[in-house]
Amino acid sequence: MIYADHNATTPVDPDVKAAMAHALDAGFGNASSLHSAGQEARRLVERARAQAAALIGAQPDEIVFTSGGTEADNLAVLGVAQAAAPESSGVVTSQIEHQAVLAPCQHLQALGRPVTFLPVDADGRLAAGVLADAARPGVALFTVMLANNETGAIQPLTEVVKAALACGAVVHTDAVQAVGKLPVDVKTLGVSLLSFSSHKLHGPKGAGALWIRRGCALAPRLHGGRQERSLRPGTENVPAIVGFGKACELASARLAADSRRLTLMRDRFEARILGRIPGARINGAVGAEVRLPNTSNLAFADCDGEAITINLDMLGLAASNGAACSAVDHAPSHVLLAMGQSAAVARSAVRFSFGRDNSDEDIDRAVDLVVQAVALVRKAAA
Ligand code: PLP
Repeated sequence: MIYADHNATTPVDPDVKAAMAHALDAGFGNASSLHSAGQEARRLVERARAQAAALIGAQPDEIVFTSGGTEADNLAVLGVAQAAAPESSGVVTSQIEHQAVLAPCQHLQALGRPVTFLPVDADGRLAAGVLADAARPGVALFTVMLANNETGAIQPLTEVVKAALACGAVVHTDAVQAVGKLPVDVKTLGVSLLSFSSHKLHGPKGAGALWIRRGCALAPRLHGGRQERSLRPGTENVPAIVGFGKACELASARLAADSRRLTLMRDRFEARILGRIPGARINGAVGAEVRLPNTSNLAFADCDGEAITINLDMLGLAASNGAACSAVDHAPSHVLLAMGQSAAVARSAVRFSFGRDNSDEDIDRAVDLVVQAVALVRKAAA
């Protein structure tokens, strides 16, 4: 099986597994306990915090560990809105966010808070001019993802930060797909909150983090003990946090080389697919500076993306027809619809997302399998 669904999740790196096995054993203590077993667990958690911080150019004490990207996004969006005065708790987001941001924004809207969902252009990037209109008094938070999980489109965050500054709002970015694939430095991004997730960068599931700039006001979502500065109470999941930290350390070391290699592989994959399959085209931005290096979202005319994905699985290639968490509801992708595509084109899309475990041979074989799967689906529909 060739695995080309790294935006859904990634295989756990062997070095991460080893670090987690050590933590399960030597770090079994409660990290809040005073005895030496507890202190060893604390030491492991704090090392992971430093590793996670280093990957995004942050200070360790600005990192709050969570159960993953979804919890980090909810803490950021709901936490900022709740900490703001009700009359100035508006939120601005985009139509192409992951459900982990869209759903808390919709929840705030249902509670009567003003929420603006900004449109995107045909490339899947925030449409020109929409930010200035959205920057009004009464907005507490802009939350715009750094890179989209379906198309890989990188969003113009510098512009978002400029607009937010103009109306005194803070900026959160869901960087779950970007961290580990792009160089991310919170100091240059200029945002105040950033979410990232372990299982997207070869760490275990069930760990993630919200980076919170010092001084940024945030209300907790959970109430309990004083772990994670009371912003995320509950006994720490030491092995998952340790695995996340190790995965961040590995990503820091490999990012530049992985990204160069993935770009070449992805571009070769696309060139060959476009050359061999009539009616195939790329969805979204294609420039290297505006798209994740590993992501390829392709539409296949007169095909059902789900049928292609199922055929590919039988042939030995794991891909995805949309975000993994919405693949079950059969609705056309809200991201592709927001880009102005018809429901038929959106339904014909398949996302291929490559990773550091893929080889050049995988790419060549993947092209052959996609050619076969599309031919099978077209023949069945004829
Ligand atoms: N945000 C984005 C952009 C994602 O792609 C995902 C996962 O697919 C999430 C948030 C949710 O992260 P997690 O699975 O760690 O909860």
